[in-house]
Amino acid sequence: MKRSLVYLVGAGPGDPRLITVKGLECIKKADVIIYDYLVNIDLLKAARPDAEFIYVGKQGGAHTLEQDEINQLLVKKALEDKIVTRLKGGDPYVFGRGGEEALVLHENRVPFEVVPGITAAIATPNYAGIPVTHRDFTSTFGLITGHEDPTKDESSIDWAKISTGIGTLAFYMGIKNLPYITGQLMKHGRSKDTPVAVIRWGTTPQQKTVVGTLDTIVQKAKDIRPPAITIVGEVVKLREQLNWFETKPLFGKTIVVTRSREQASEFADQLYEHGAQVIEFPTIEITKPDAVQPLDEAINSIQSYDWLVFTSINGADAFFQRLFELGKDIRDLKGIKVCAIGPATEGGIEKYHIKVDCRPPKFVAESVVEELKKITGIKGEKFLLPRADIARSFLPEELQKLGGEVTDLVAYKTIMAQPRNINLVDKIKNGEIHIITFTSSSTVRNFAQIVGEKNIAALNGHVQFASIGPITTQTAEDVGLRVTIRADEYTIPGLVSAILKSVTSATIQNSYKSL
Ligand code: SAH
Repeated sequence: MKRSLVYLVGAGPGDPRLITVKGLECIKKADVIIYDYLVNIDLLKAARPDAEFIYVGKQGGAHTLEQDEINQLLVKKALEDKIVTRLKGGDPYVFGRGGEEALVLHENRVPFEVVPGITAAIATPNYAGIPVTHRDFTSTFGLITGHEDPTKDESSIDWAKISTGIGTLAFYMGIKNLPYITGQLMKHGRSKDTPVAVIRWGTTPQQKTVVGTLDTIVQKAKDIRPPAITIVGEVVKLREQLNWFETKPLFGKTIVVTRSREQASEFADQLYEHGAQVIEFPTIEITKPDAVQPLDEAINSIQSYDWLVFTSINGADAFFQRLFELGKDIRDLKGIKVCAIGPATEGGIEKYHIKVDCRPPKFVAESVVEELKKITGIKGEKFLLPRADIARSFLPEELQKLGGEVTDLVAYKTIMAQPRNINLVDKIKNGEIHIITFTSSSTVRNFAQIVGEKNIAALNGHVQFASIGPITTQTAEDVGLRVTIRADEYTIPGLVSAILKSVTSATIQNSYKSL
């Protein structure tokens, strides 16, 4: 039996990883998630597949629902015997109207819990290199709404007291009123030279920070639109030394990952670690083969093989899943040697508690043949290759030529993914995307088909293409894409290093130009 319960959850300031453990648990168990404009929608990926999502964002003046209606919706959903997670940006009780929502729940006797979140005034200056307190600069820190109507006769903010009484001041929702806010502070005694930072979309890859003084910031931040927070105080100076986030090598770069959804996250995580914004644009989907019979037959006579050769994690997963489905387990593989094309595939195999006997130094089929030649001599050996429907014929052909007996099987099928509803071509032409990555030939071919062959030529020059290895590079060049970033080691970490190298050398070149 379920019970009505509403969790008012702070989703944190923008970076989805800044939610609390408890907040994330509330997302996972919710029947209904009601979320705001400032909530990073990546967090919704953690929800149950059958969860209902309701967007009630208020962006500037445009409200999808009025606050009263949101309150009523919370009560209504909870009374339907549901677990409702109400996700709000930052902390629910800091300028988030969480107090009002909690009171309505209380009045309607709906049980609720409130989960704190990291509020913008703490997280966004941090990501801009500003500690909000520091013993040498200030021992006080104030959170203030900048949303107050400046034409009101009576201000609820005691400007005289806060201007000189508090060291660091954080103004939420104050962009429109910035001239009023800075004016009030100076009028009430704060020095015009006090450092000020305005931070927009803090903690996200789109973060933008403008720094000035009370006297200059209005002019300097004139192009900044909400959501942005204004930090006033001497601590802003520390940004010169403590700016750890905006100085990450891939900060400000938008990078597209074209591999399948299942495989994207490891790659996306590594790019994120270096500060990039990642757009997942899967071009392939992995499905079962049309016929499982050949795979079943091979598995049923598995002891007749000398070698199992895997050229992808997908091949390994498909093979082992089917092995288990047929009621067998790894004991049935006793005595059979295993080869993995590269470290990622090896890792995928080790998951099943199998050690790899052959790992080629270069992670391509040619190197697999060389290494197998060294280890077994190939002639007379029996090889099973559980691979993709579109795998290259080089490996089975070469092994056969050298006298090997080869069963080349379709263990899984790759199909073209449904294009995601983002206009990638326009984004590329507008310079909103910096690098597009390819991790296999099929990602290249499907990408070309999705964006349209006629658009391909026009993309070169607007964006850089990065490739994991020589075969993928060749395919890209065959379809007319100019590859400028090439991995030296044909793995995801190798590709990440190549991207880092290219970005760093471009930065050095640009700084020479500006000398
Ligand atoms: N409850 C939220 C605040 C909601 S009020 C919290 O605790 O953070 C909305 C205001 O918060 C915005 O106008 C802006 O001033 C600030 N804000 C929220 N997220 C922000 C972000 N990522 N970057 C800059 N300002 C942000």
